[in-house]
Amino acid sequence: MLKAQIYDHGQFKFMDAGQTISILLSSTALRLNEAGIESARTEASWMLMHATGRSKMDLIMRPDEKMTTDQAEHLQILLSRRLEGVPIQYVLGVADFYGRSFTVSPDVLIPRPETEELVESVLRLDAEVLGGGVIDLGTGSGCIPITIACERPGALCVGVDVSAAALRVARSNASQLGANVQWVEADMCDPALQEMLGRTFSVLISNPPYIPDEEAASLQPEVRNHEPGLALFSGSDPLHFYRALCEQAPRIVRSGGYVLVEIHADAGLAVLHLFEQAGWIDCALQQDLSGRDRIIRARMP
Ligand code: GLN
Repeated sequence: MLKAQIYDHGQFKFMDAGQTISILLSSTALRLNEAGIESARTEASWMLMHATGRSKMDLIMRPDEKMTTDQAEHLQILLSRRLEGVPIQYVLGVADFYGRSFTVSPDVLIPRPETEELVESVLRLDAEVLGGGVIDLGTGSGCIPITIACERPGALCVGVDVSAAALRVARSNASQLGANVQWVEADMCDPALQEMLGRTFSVLISNPPYIPDEEAASLQPEVRNHEPGLALFSGSDPLHFYRALCEQAPRIVRSGGYVLVEIHADAGLAVLHLFEQAGWIDCALQQDLSGRDRIIRARMP
């Protein structure tokens, strides 16, 4: 019945202004569902909220309200981009991370739940340790240092990224969320990094690019075709950035300080070994909530 309505005139015409919220919600969800998108109804309601500026409660309480032409057109654009395979976070320009809403664009990786667990591990460190300075190498959207700055306002937080475009996104997130973070445009592998930073830190964090190039073909197309390769791929050596971190960290992290890095689920033991062989102490491998190797934590002697 609904389908018949939608495909009226043999064309996909449901975005006509004057349709009610409830019809547009159902027809958007149906289109997403037909395209094989799993959380079709949820995504449809996000798109309607975005296109109309209404809250979720508004959508539920006033399903018979009508959309304006501009809103219907906006919804049509969002839906078309999503149907082209663009991740919902890029379509809407926002992603949730640790209970906050971050702006995202294709210049930055979409923050992942695993990375929330990395942040959780950092937040478990003593306030005194965090007060000694926290640096995030390869910060992207800035979700890691911004979250730490919001949760621990006393901590001095610095985010580093090689991409000026990513840092623009990070800066805008920090100002939207009122987080006091300093930003440095630099390559995490640059031997002059410590001089550029001009100080040392008690915690170094990184979620570096860790997907080997040869895994590109097996990634979901949404990830492979839309997220920044610069933030995803490690090149032919899966340990490339961890080797660089092992080189850099002793210059950047103070004695007794910590390194916490996110890793590829298959690289746990290899990265653990790397840190142990470089003389780090208390090296530990942590699993994420789905039981996969995800974080290496080590301490500077
Ligand atoms: N966790 C991301 C993914 O699975 C990869 C992030 C990274 O390479 N650092 O797609």
